[in-house]
Amino acid sequence: MSKSMDLNVIPLGSGDKGKAPSCGGGWENPANFKTNNDLVKTRKSKMYGVLCGKHNNLIVIDYDTHKLEETSINPKSLKGVHGSGAYIVQTQSGGFHVYHTYEDKYEAWKGICGIDGYIDIRTTNNYVVGAGSTGYKLLSGNIEKLTPMPDIIFKKLDGDISSMREKKTKRKSKSKSKKVHDLDEADALVEHLEDFGFTNVEFRWDNSPYNFTCDQVGGGVTCPCCGGFHDNNNFFYRIDEREMKVVVKNHSESCEAKTLDSYKVVKYLFERKVCRIRGNLTYIVEEEKPWANPFERPEGVQPEQTINTYRYHGIRELFSHVNYKGEEGKTHKFVPTWLDDAHKRDYALMDFYPENCPEEVFNTWRGYAVESIDPSLGEKGSHEKWLELVEVLSGGHSKYILDYYSLLFQQPGRKPRTCLVFRGKPGCGKGVHLHSLEILMGSDLYFETNKAQQDVFGNHGQAFNCNKLVVMNEVSMKYTAENTQLLLGLIADEAGVLINKKGIDPYKVRNLAGTVMLSNDKVVVYVDETDRRYAIFETGEKYRNNQPWFADFETYMLKPENQRAIYDFLMKRDISQVDWVNDRPKTKAYIEMRNSSLSPCLKWYAEFIDNYPFEYNDFNHGRCLRGNIHRWRGDELCNKYPTRKDKDPNLVFGGDMRRMIEKYEVPDDCLKKDKDNGVTWWTIDHQKSKKWLEDKEFLLLEVAGG
Ligand SMILES: [Zn+2]
Repeated sequence: MSKSMDLNVIPLGSGDKGKAPSCGGGWENPANFKTNNDLVKTRKSKMYGVLCGKHNNLIVIDYDTHKLEETSINPKSLKGVHGSGAYIVQTQSGGFHVYHTYEDKYEAWKGICGIDGYIDIRTTNNYVVGAGSTGYKLLSGNIEKLTPMPDIIFKKLDGDISSMREKKTKRKSKSKSKKVHDLDEADALVEHLEDFGFTNVEFRWDNSPYNFTCDQVGGGVTCPCCGGFHDNNNFFYRIDEREMKVVVKNHSESCEAKTLDSYKVVKYLFERKVCRIRGNLTYIVEEEKPWANPFERPEGVQPEQTINTYRYHGIRELFSHVNYKGEEGKTHKFVPTWLDDAHKRDYALMDFYPENCPEEVFNTWRGYAVESIDPSLGEKGSHEKWLELVEVLSGGHSKYILDYYSLLFQQPGRKPRTCLVFRGKPGCGKGVHLHSLEILMGSDLYFETNKAQQDVFGNHGQAFNCNKLVVMNEVSMKYTAENTQLLLGLIADEAGVLINKKGIDPYKVRNLAGTVMLSNDKVVVYVDETDRRYAIFETGEKYRNNQPWFADFETYMLKPENQRAIYDFLMKRDISQVDWVNDRPKTKAYIEMRNSSLSPCLKWYAEFIDNYPFEYNDFNHGRCLRGNIHRWRGDELCNKYPTRKDKDPNLVFGGDMRRMIEKYEVPDDCLKKDKDNGVTWWTIDHQKSKKWLEDKEFLLLEVAGG
């Protein structure tokens, strides 16, 4: 133990087994090293920890052999693989810590647990209980003369670690769609392992899915890898993702790893990621998205997948390092052979099918980001704060909005065919709210733009390309009015959007996106009486410019447990009875926006009825027939109607009135025209007209300005 004192160590003694640091937090920080080293000396604690990784220039492989039912791992076998000079400590539980010198190549591993179900790696920012502590016995080696990790161990662990990461990725898209990753990897490999010379290959262990048994275990049958015999140990495989090869070996240290690199094996691994689209002769590569957060990916959250498109030359260059071995034993470039392969993985076209993807279509749907969060986390989170903001932004009409979001998550294959419009002052939280949906969906399925004229209405507009929600920010009537028909099509029609990316031939994809518009303007879209598409909300100002509240909201939204809780809340909501057109709330904002599109003549009529001074009853104000019914000569009434100076007021008024009556179906008993001796007369029932205008909600005209 005294020799360990040259290392950076920490005093232990807390926790159930006395294995937690007794010096408190911050022990990973070099600023505390001296203090903690001194503490270990002065306290003479029974247990001490040795920092791993860079801080002591050492790495520890922890064999928790008690996790195995049976094992051939013992000090002798460990020295066999780790070298006779390896520094080995027996642990309290009967397992082993094997120390090696640290190298930069371990940087990518991080501390990881459960390799093959029983091996942990302890490196930078981890510690292990040092030799000489209660229950920790030095078996061999010298801490001052640590040995490097043998290459075969490094390769095996490195392969296992990348396989573990890959395995996690694979689970993400379970039963979603036709996807090569969905094939069970082990099942697929049976064929290749049997081609190689194994017989009756069987994967039996869920917690160590890379281990397999076969006829070559026991019974004195020759090992296809090394030609020797392995009576006790199973075989395992690992995948070299970069080289696209499978490495296989027996757990016995006497076995020699062999690489499966026939064309067939490399093709299998290659086609898990790559395919061709015949329709436009492009090549698709599915890749794991780099984690955007500067911190490490939280536990229980899996990486997003992304789909990249390449032309012929791109695919050749990207994979030019991949080789395979021909039957004659010669090494060949893989991609040229694959490009000539008549049976390569290819599809007629690519499209977006959250459900029921046809065989011939490469499906770009990869699920919502929130679905990759461990469901058990949802119970620890809350949807309340999120819901509170929806309530405020909906101006008291949240039901429709929540139903709409539920539809997006519950039935991703269905297109919501209405559009949510949030109108209101800046600083109310519209953007923050929409960003919360982006977090739940994943940035690949969410499209937000401040330039609708380019991204939505432009020739190369990508807004509706395989997205589930398109958000148009700062929408102004200027663009929506010019593109009313196109916009209505994008909101309501599932049928093809033409994707016209530069450098790639145009192709069509189904449009399954919901649509949201955000604006500070009073009137954002053209809404008329026949409208079936818009649901319009005036955003409440409860949290307007409340920076602390929004800062809290952001912290809350970044927690996976809350994301999952919001998702669970939306998934549970019953939307079976929703009528998407008729259940749109008739908000004041909606009526104002619709009324702004009324014909000028109807606006005049509404104002005339609303403001007409009933007390007048003379020829200048029409003749009173009885009660509120007045009879006007056409050539008198038309003077009250605004007409351009160069036009004949009589003609303009007559035409506008006729069109208004037709378009809005103004009832006869409200407004009626007749002719008497060549003179036009209008009979207006003020009371009935007012009632009709009120019923139709035509009296609520837009607030001035905006
Ligand atoms: Zn062997």
